[in-house]
Amino acid sequence: MIVMPITVPFPKDWGHGDGTNAYIIKGDKTILIDSGLDGPDNREYIKRTLRRLDAWRVDAILLTHGHLDHFGLGAYLQRETGAKIMIHEEDAPALKDYRNVMSWFDEVYELAVEGGFDEQDLRAVKMQLSMVIDMMSKPDNYGTFSELDLKMGGGALRSMHLPGHTPGSVGYILGDSIFSGDVALDGPTNVGELRQELASIQRLKTFKHVYTGHRRSPINAKDLEALEAHIASRLEQVLRITKQGRTLKEIVSGVYGVTMVETNFMKKVIPIRQVVSYLRYLEDEGHITKRGARWVSFKDHL
Ligand SMILES: [Zn+2]
Ligand SMILES: [Zn+2]
Repeated sequence: MIVMPITVPFPKDWGHGDGTNAYIIKGDKTILIDSGLDGPDNREYIKRTLRRLDAWRVDAILLTHGHLDHFGLGAYLQRETGAKIMIHEEDAPALKDYRNVMSWFDEVYELAVEGGFDEQDLRAVKMQLSMVIDMMSKPDNYGTFSELDLKMGGGALRSMHLPGHTPGSVGYILGDSIFSGDVALDGPTNVGELRQELASIQRLKTFKHVYTGHRRSPINAKDLEALEAHIASRLEQVLRITKQGRTLKEIVSGVYGVTMVETNFMKKVIPIRQVVSYLRYLEDEGHITKRGARWVSFKDHL
């Protein structure tokens, strides 16, 4: 069984990062873990790459989660190669229509408006994002699972539920390696539900090689500890900033220096979502409370 990592580039207007890490696993079956964003260049790229490996007949595409930068090319590959697409049942709604893919935006929208961000600007960002999403094609059919155990000649690929980044995020275990999508990256991640995410990061530490969905890959337990330390310092930073009571916009600016002038929608919205995840976690822990539009912390250390 051979594992070949590839990076499927992001189109220029996507911004925010270099591309999506996908993995070709070739044994008696050809499996692709994630697929990258759709687009003419990426279609050519994936076709060329798979053909070179004599792997153009893809049996299955296993998705780590329901984000566009992971499933985007799946529909094209399915049409061309007949590949079966598999996703955890809790992320399956994301494959149905773009509104579900947008749910992470909707989750922070009202808080962002209340927290001082310009509503018109946010609407424009949402429009830009849904236009990009509309250009992508969705797969005609796909299978869902709560647990997956795929036998391959000389081994097996098993799923591990790793919620946090999304509710249905999974890793795929192969020996002492795991292909873990966006649950933990080298550097900051796009946080979803932070408590779950921290538990998932903890579980990843038992693997020797953690093959991630973006940036440097594989990472290991030491890198995961660095990520945990980064998250802890961000949480403390939020506590310090909110000592006197601050709006969401003030907190986001304090943490990221974001002023909503960047033209790229990903750069605008991800920092807001990150901060909201931190605030919700701190609120659950009883360290912070929301009074009107302001968040106020009770302590400045965790
Ligand atoms: Zn993701
Ligand atoms: Zn991603």
